Amino acid sequence: MVNGLLSGKRGIVFGVANNKSLAWACAQACAAQGASLMFNFLGAAQEKRLNDLMSEIPGAKAKNCDLAKDDELEDFFKWVRSQWDSIDFVIHSVAYTDKECLKEPFINTTRQQFVSTMDISAFTLVAAAKHAAPLMRNGGSIISMSYYGAEKVIPNYNVMGVAKAALEACNRYLADDLGPQGIRVNSISAGPIRTLSSSAIPGMRNMLDYSQKFSPLRRNITGEDVARSALFLLSDLGSGVTGETLHVDCGYHVMGMFREEAQQAGETH
Ligand code: NAD
Repeated sequence: MVNGLLSGKRGIVFGVANNKSLAWACAQACAAQGASLMFNFLGAAQEKRLNDLMSEIPGAKAKNCDLAKDDELEDFFKWVRSQWDSIDFVIHSVAYTDKECLKEPFINTTRQQFVSTMDISAFTLVAAAKHAAPLMRNGGSIISMSYYGAEKVIPNYNVMGVAKAALEACNRYLADDLGPQGIRVNSISAGPIRTLSSSAIPGMRNMLDYSQKFSPLRRNITGEDVARSALFLLSDLGSGVTGETLHVDCGYHVMGMFREEAQQAGETH
């Protein structure tokens, strides 16, 4: 691989819960390519885990920030501005929904569950971009993490799928708003992978089995797959790409019919 893709660049990483987090895979790859990083954490337990992880990354710093709270977001960026006069990229790898929403049929989603899922999983991208853009004095790159449940019905994914559709639309509108400043905004639609958040989805085992069996690459994605695509979008390699949702899912989304179904259909006709 090319080296020093992010030499001298400064980035903010939102969403490292532990060493399985997609944000952590991206952070490690960015640091290996020369980037300096600042992180958020949510609460004392996450702070401790993050501090252990950050010892691998020279100069990395972190501050508590619940992205759903305007005052915490304001304080976080005030803190960033006290350390750095400019930034180059933001990784938004944040989502949340009430676990009950993933068990019940979608139609049972309450107003409160709908609003909080949309707020944390979609609007926080807009809020973070609003704070980050003035600091991107030489242009920049913002990425977020989506999932195929934004485009198609995935059983149990429910209101998270609706929030991911909103996230992808926010991504496109932000790309247009910030394009004149040389800021690119893109989303990665990652295939299923076991993390703290995804373990809460009933049927995750099935999602992994399905995707391994039927993806063109016949395997599930790894954190490194996502991190490499993040590097492309965050670095000058992605200089002409914005408003895009890049599928990093071993090709699963291109399949219109699965091989076993196709075979069975052939046998009955
Ligand atoms: P994860 O649990 O490691 O990360 C989710 C992060 O969101 C955690 O760090 C959590 O603290 C943070 N978060 C939640 N609410 C927050 C808030 N109010 N303020 C600040 N941070 C908050 O899980 P992950 O799988 O690495 O998820 C990262 C992103 O990737 C999410 O957007 C998720 O939807 C997306 N994604 C995951 C998968 C998968 O299969 N794991 C697939 C596609 C997309």
